[in-house]
Amino acid sequence: MEIVRTIEECRALRKTLGRLALVPTMGALHAGHLALIAHARNNAPAVAVSIFVNPTQFGPKEDFNKYPRPLSADLEKCEAAGVDFIFNPPPEEMYRPGLPDIVVDLPALSTVLEGKHRPTHFKGVCQIVAKLFNIVQPDVACFGQKDYQQLRILQAMVEALDWPIDVIPCPTVRDPDGMAMSSRNQYLSVEDRARGLSISRALMIAMAEFKSGVNQTNRLVATAHRPLLEAHVNVDYVAAVDALTLKPVERIEAPTVIAIAARVGTTRLIDNIILSPVTPAPVQSDTVDPDVIDAE
Ligand code: AMP
Repeated sequence: MEIVRTIEECRALRKTLGRLALVPTMGALHAGHLALIAHARNNAPAVAVSIFVNPTQFGPKEDFNKYPRPLSADLEKCEAAGVDFIFNPPPEEMYRPGLPDIVVDLPALSTVLEGKHRPTHFKGVCQIVAKLFNIVQPDVACFGQKDYQQLRILQAMVEALDWPIDVIPCPTVRDPDGMAMSSRNQYLSVEDRARGLSISRALMIAMAEFKSGVNQTNRLVATAHRPLLEAHVNVDYVAAVDALTLKPVERIEAPTVIAIAARVGTTRLIDNIILSPVTPAPVQSDTVDPDVIDAE
């Protein structure tokens, strides 16, 4: 596995490879990231992982300085996962002094949900991912559904800017108790983790209610609130939005995301599930119809 730290080295290495899948990360890798790497490997013969804690996606009061950076453990995990190369630039390589500021924004998608609480976050995400796409030039890029709004914005960015890149969504990887894995979970004390578990529980209860036939989102959202209130977490939002437009939905008639953001102590956690109405299975042409057989 090669490790490159400059844009020039990265471009030179990329030229030697054929079809390439990129997994952009901020490091502190866990099984969720490794699942993305496995998806990447299934979609391209060569896999690159970027490890970069991107300052422009953190707000002024957020955890940029304390964000975990266990680089040597991350490199070992990538090596074991069969990654071909790591792009791990220092901040001054990506944001060289004197570079003009640039904003890539999709306001219809970036100002809702997380955007209300982290107003500059997605501008930073789009900026760094656009730069990574231009530097690494992947054919495929894998992103987790754990950060659903980010995934949707990046899919839309690629579409709007005609980038020849397949954006592949990867399902959320959870701990055995249901908690969505996140690099930020390591900030949680044992007590706070137990309270944070109310978020995935809230989503599972809403899903069970949906499966029992309830499709009015006000009822599902009210149900999801209950465990959060019991656990005394500070809820930023519980929302039901269309999976493509991220606009609020009243009745689930198309894939709908139930998204939760809540603060547990000083740690902010997000999670979501996608609820899809079941469409009746199409009648198979080879299905035996007893009435027809009788008629013959
Ligand atoms: P991060 O390092 O947090 O920026 O995440 C890098 C990528 O990993 C993003 O595409 C995330 O959505 C994805 N990711 C993070 N946690 C999980 C998880 N628990 N399951 C699946 N993907 C995840």
